[in-house]
Amino acid sequence: MGDVEFVREAAERFRVTIDLGGGRWSTVLIGDGVAAELTGHLPTRTRRCAVVTQAAVGVTVDPGVEHRTFEVGDGERHKTLATVEQLCESFAEWGLTRSDCVVGVGGGLVTDVAGFAAAVYHRGVEVVHVATTLLAQIDAAIGGKTGVNLPQGKNLVGAYWQPRAVLCDTASLRTLPDREWRCGLGELAKYHWLGGGPLDELPLAERVARCVEIKARVVADDERESGRRALLNYGHTLGHAVEIAGGHDLRHGEAVAVGLVFAAELAHALGRIDADAVAEHRRVVDGYGLPTTVPPGLDPDALVVLMGRDKKVLDGGLTFVLDGGDGLEVVTSVDPELVRRTLEAVS
Ligand code: NAD
Repeated sequence: MGDVEFVREAAERFRVTIDLGGGRWSTVLIGDGVAAELTGHLPTRTRRCAVVTQAAVGVTVDPGVEHRTFEVGDGERHKTLATVEQLCESFAEWGLTRSDCVVGVGGGLVTDVAGFAAAVYHRGVEVVHVATTLLAQIDAAIGGKTGVNLPQGKNLVGAYWQPRAVLCDTASLRTLPDREWRCGLGELAKYHWLGGGPLDELPLAERVARCVEIKARVVADDERESGRRALLNYGHTLGHAVEIAGGHDLRHGEAVAVGLVFAAELAHALGRIDADAVAEHRRVVDGYGLPTTVPPGLDPDALVVLMGRDKKVLDGGLTFVLDGGDGLEVVTSVDPELVRRTLEAVS
């Protein structure tokens, strides 16, 4: 993958173009009402669209060609191979061909499942997403990672399959339940340290667009997650541990928020950043109305064990994405005792 281009097309409308290589591009359009432009973003040969969505999404799209809607269930327990199989069977029964298109309309669950179905049906058909949650717009729908869960863990089966276009209609966010909005903000907060700067000072569409640009640049550098893409997991090491230890009482984005503050405290304890940088992490997370402390009752030793199982762990020790003089980097072999002590700063 190559270049990423960021264009402000109007005061509140942005276009991010990602060069996929081989003369292929992925376009991300961000703004109020952009979902209405779906037809113009379908591959030109498209005769039919399979629209994959959920009842609760409440966003209707008109692809301008023959289309049929296929609903998937709500919640992670529906993010399964069985759902993908069901979708592919329905596509086959309807007669969807390789010159047609799948359109995912929804949050990250829908875009992950629809994207994976598109990647494997007929060994790959084009996919376009209409991302309708904050999390999907700034993260899940961007970058081409698709997948489903297994009983053994989240997102264990999947494929890289780049969408032809992603439409981030900020109007659709008006109906998002409060908690879903907060979960998106938890992921958005991390972009402040991925080069985004004071994103909280920007209007919504521009804030979303800047996050899309950052994610696109990271992915363009490292599509298959061998290096820089790991930085997108800033705040996730403690975040995942808190989610699991707490039986998912804190949702993903909320847990990542705590993880960001913890990562700052840990970087400070390691002499990588000063107290002002820690205070800035707390200001941003708090300003988004997100939690800054681990919920009471979680055993610090259990959290350290869970952090040791993180996917980023390469050398058997504790691994974190941490802030430092040159921005974020992956830091390995962090002393478990220091990690345990630093947990007190977020308790
Ligand atoms: P979600 O897709 O489960 O959506 C949350 C809820 O909001 C659902 O009930 C949904 O029906 C509803 N909803 C969606 N749009 C709405 C709207 N406009 N108005 C009202 N309700 C609406 O959750 P999510 O947070 O969007 O995505 C989480 C998923 O994304 C997880 O499965 C996660 O693994 C995945 N993810 C993938 C990537 C990636 O790179 N592929 C990155 C981050 C997260």
